[in-house]
Amino acid sequence: MECIFCKIIKGEIPGKFVYKDSQMVVFRDISPKAPVHVLLVPRKHFESLKDVTLNDAELMGKVMTKFPEIAKKLGIERGFKVAVNNGRSAGQLVFHLHFHILGGWGKSPGWVV
Ligand code: 5GP
Ligand code: ZN
Repeated sequence: MECIFCKIIKGEIPGKFVYKDSQMVVFRDISPKAPVHVLLVPRKHFESLKDVTLNDAELMGKVMTKFPEIAKKLGIERGFKVAVNNGRSAGQLVFHLHFHILGGWGKSPGWVV
């Protein structure tokens, strides 16, 4: 198993987790691009959004409701961004679907991903 995020999910590589349940985990990005930068990662290995189908609708629905919950937990509910890079040309470096959650700026957030 080569996937670094699968290894983090399994505990084979350390991660600074802020949330875990049976379907997804959230951990701190190792190289933060914002004052608060975490990655929401479904446990199921999708390469990117291109592999998501309607069979995953329930999981993806749960992911959507998790963003504001995590933002609140991290104290960034006033303003946060969610971003997904899909494909190398879009800047994807880790090929296990993950949602960047970024926040914690002052009054004028910039686009940083
Ligand atoms: P991508 O460009 O694929 O959307 O984003 C990959 C993200 O994963 C980057 O923001 C990068 O800093 C982060 N990352 C890469 N390797 C590791 C790691 O081993 N641990 C953690 N916590 N984050 C990582
Ligand atoms: Zn994986």
